[in-house]
Amino acid sequence: MIGVYGGTFNPVHYGHLRTALEVKELFGLQRLHLIPCRLPAHRGQPEADAEIRMQMLAAAVADTPGFFADRRELERDGPSYMVDTLAALRSELADDTPLLLFIGADAFAGLERWHRWQRLFELAHVVVMTRPGFLHGPLPDFLRQRLADDSRLLSDAPAGRIYFQPVTALAISATEIRRLIAAGRSPQFLLPDRVIALIRQHQLYQATTDQ
Ligand code: ATP
Repeated sequence: MIGVYGGTFNPVHYGHLRTALEVKELFGLQRLHLIPCRLPAHRGQPEADAEIRMQMLAAAVADTPGFFADRRELERDGPSYMVDTLAALRSELADDTPLLLFIGADAFAGLERWHRWQRLFELAHVVVMTRPGFLHGPLPDFLRQRLADDSRLLSDAPAGRIYFQPVTALAISATEIRRLIAAGRSPQFLLPDRVIALIRQHQLYQATTDQ
């Protein structure tokens, strides 16, 4: 099984890294591709440019076996659509290798607005990472028909299911980290020291205009 964990990673922090490690272990992933988006399709342009976000991510996961900082969305023109990313990855894998797309509950709430969202399920399973105790509301027919109530169902097919996986939610957000730095406060212990060193080196987030 191969996993995909996308995000803006502006910057990557322990909220991302801890959940990434948990799902890697829970699903016994051979490899988890962490993929920063070049142009976020669903939000404003983040402040740190894509290359630096990529550098921070690569520094954060350099020593973690099975984690792969994947720059494929940076190499593509136009908006970063997950469906294109999964199609590219799928073409590199054996047809029967399960591919798991991990998304947060916040991203799941907007899933039906993603470009060609139903096609995602031809390419991968979708695993929604939830807080313990999270109950999803009524699902549209398309998702209800694909709901897996046991994670073992995900290894039986290369794609096509949706599964809800509780993970440890650390109360860390990139927005809050950018705010702290802009306010001259230390972000230490919220993200790896190597990422903090890169933030200092590139003087990122000194003044933040987003929320
Ligand atoms: P921002 O504050 O800029 O919105 P973010 O910290 O939410 O950023 P993203 O890069 O947008 O980070 O998130 C990528 C993925 O990581 C999303 O699916 C999101 O749900 C998940 N994620 C973000 N923060 C956490 C956290 N503290 N714990 C678990 N998952 C998280």
